[in-house]
Amino acid sequence: MKENSKTPSKMEIPKGLWLRCDGCGEILYRKSLEQNLFVCMRCGYHFRISATKYVELILDNESFEEFDKNFVSGNPLNFPNYKEKLEEAQKKTGYKEAFIYGRGRINNIAVIFGAMDFNFMGGSMGSVVGEKVARAIRKAYTDRVPLIIVATSGGARMQEGIFSLMQLAKTAAELALLASAKIPYIVVVTNPTMAGVMASYASLGDIIIAEPKALLGFAGARVIEGTIGEKLPEGFQTAEFLLAHGFVDLVVPRKQLRPTISKILDIVWNKKESQSLETEKLNYKIEE
Ligand SMILES: [Zn+2]
Repeated sequence: MKENSKTPSKMEIPKGLWLRCDGCGEILYRKSLEQNLFVCMRCGYHFRISATKYVELILDNESFEEFDKNFVSGNPLNFPNYKEKLEEAQKKTGYKEAFIYGRGRINNIAVIFGAMDFNFMGGSMGSVVGEKVARAIRKAYTDRVPLIIVATSGGARMQEGIFSLMQLAKTAAELALLASAKIPYIVVVTNPTMAGVMASYASLGDIIIAEPKALLGFAGARVIEGTIGEKLPEGFQTAEFLLAHGFVDLVVPRKQLRPTISKILDIVWNKKESQSLETEKLNYKIEE
């Protein structure tokens, strides 16, 4: 698969006045591209953007208040060079970890909003990313507000081994709690969202929105082909293929994300009903 052969570094937005589109090869003027939300003016290719850009793009102006900003990963397995890698990623991105979250508003509707950043160690999910995602979900639950998460990830963080894998169960359990309270969870999957993240909270949205042509899946195409010994359909891990097969609900260009989410919240979010929900009636006990 063409997409799979791309190295993460190639997918970053390079510095400089001009850059080449990975979709069509066109040389694009950075300023114009930026004004177009880093979507190629010629072919619609969606360049990767930071977590902060999604905050600006989707939430009401200056409504975002970040939580747990300074959580940093330890090195539970004493994995060689992990500490250095983390520090490097922190310096490069300005984030402490690959996921940020907080409260904000979309068209004046209060939400809990989180976004991952691929530039931070490939958006990989270690114990801190998992914990922050779990806390975002719990906060949506206790505040009785919808949850929106923008995902991008290469998967679980290998430097934390089993601690990373535990985050799949933890985030999935928290989402079950949120679902029991009938609070909507909208996930936006962007290019690429793979492996452990796709296998947990990125695919558990009540509504799953994908950016056009995003690569989404669990294992890479070559690994699957090698395992099952069969040729896979062309583009089977793209947003459009998954839309056609029911795994994704909507493919929405970046420009339309905010109005689309806002419209969905208008339709599905009945505030009155959720506020009258009594905690005692739920099957889960909350420890706070
Ligand atoms: Zn292009």
